[in-house]
Amino acid sequence: MNLFAGLEEIVKFDEPLAPYNWFKLGGPARYFVTPRNLDQLKQVIERCNENHVDVKILGRGSNLLVGDEGVDGVVIRMTDKYFGQISIEGNTVCAGAGASINRLLQVCARAGLSGMECLVGIPGSVGGAVKINAGGRFGDIGSFSHSVSLMDSSGYQFVRPREDIYFGYRETNIMAKLILSAEFTLTPDDPEAIGRTIKEVWMLKKISQPMSSRNAGCVFKNPRALSAGALIDQAGLKGLRLGGAQVSERHANFIVVSDGATASDVLKLIDQIRQQVQRRFDVELELELEIWR
Ligand SMILES: Cc1cc2nc3c(=O)[nH]c(=O)nc-3n(C[C@H](O)[C@H](O)[C@H](O)COP(=O)(O)OP(=O)(O)OC[C@H]3O[C@@H](n4cnc5c(N)ncnc54)[C@H](O)[C@@H]3O)c2cc1C
Repeated sequence: MNLFAGLEEIVKFDEPLAPYNWFKLGGPARYFVTPRNLDQLKQVIERCNENHVDVKILGRGSNLLVGDEGVDGVVIRMTDKYFGQISIEGNTVCAGAGASINRLLQVCARAGLSGMECLVGIPGSVGGAVKINAGGRFGDIGSFSHSVSLMDSSGYQFVRPREDIYFGYRETNIMAKLILSAEFTLTPDDPEAIGRTIKEVWMLKKISQPMSSRNAGCVFKNPRALSAGALIDQAGLKGLRLGGAQVSERHANFIVVSDGATASDVLKLIDQIRQQVQRRFDVELELELEIWR
């Protein structure tokens, strides 16, 4: 059976996933698909559904750890420019799932639309950000979301209005396989003022996070009213190294990796951190990072 007959131009076999994620780690995807339009995407989804093939959706790989064995199924990458279109009508911005948060911010700032500044420094895609309600201490993407356009695993497309979506702390109730695009309602403001806020938030992130190293952002969610980073720090784990993976010296809730690291090093370090924090503070750390294995 040729699962992707007629779609060969958008399918790669045994494609290494390391170049597509921020840790630059992990094995290959059995099938790596980069659809160039909605019709191709729908065909891929339908065929996988009919043939019971596991599908994973990849954004910009900035919240992911791919296991060393890779993914024995289909990985669909949503970053073709077709899925990254951004349009503005009045105060409403519609962004394709593949658009980078960074570009979305720039487009909104230029158009004098404020709100997205809280997402400065998040290197993900709109789809990845909506999926887990990405954000930080200044706000999250769910606060501005007006509606989200989705596709389920049978290829059926539908739109969910804001009222139907729960945007919690680094989680949503979006169960559909694919986020296609999202609409955001923003507030008109002076583009220069927006630009200044972007710079300020960026400086704060740069000071507190290891932005230039190989990492995937915060590894753990903050437990209720506590800081995961502070707990890891107080457990004396800052700087702890296992193989090529290390607890960041700058921010203890980040794991940074060096040349020669494997996904297995990161997984072992995650286990160590969890065990020690549990032993020391009786707190169970929950992953923010997603693991594919
Ligand atoms: C240096 C650095 C700083 C960071 N700072 C922050 C921060 O301040 N706040 C924060 O919240 N996060 C932060 N992150 C984490 C990350 O950038 C966000 O979680 C981001 O939203 C992930 O988007 P992505 O496109 O990279 O998703 P990926 O990592 O590719 O995927 C993450 C999840 O989203 C799903 N997904 C992606 N696209 C789609 C889609 N179109 N449809 C359905 N599911 C999809 C994937 O299947 C996976 O489950 C940071 C990461 C780094 C490396």
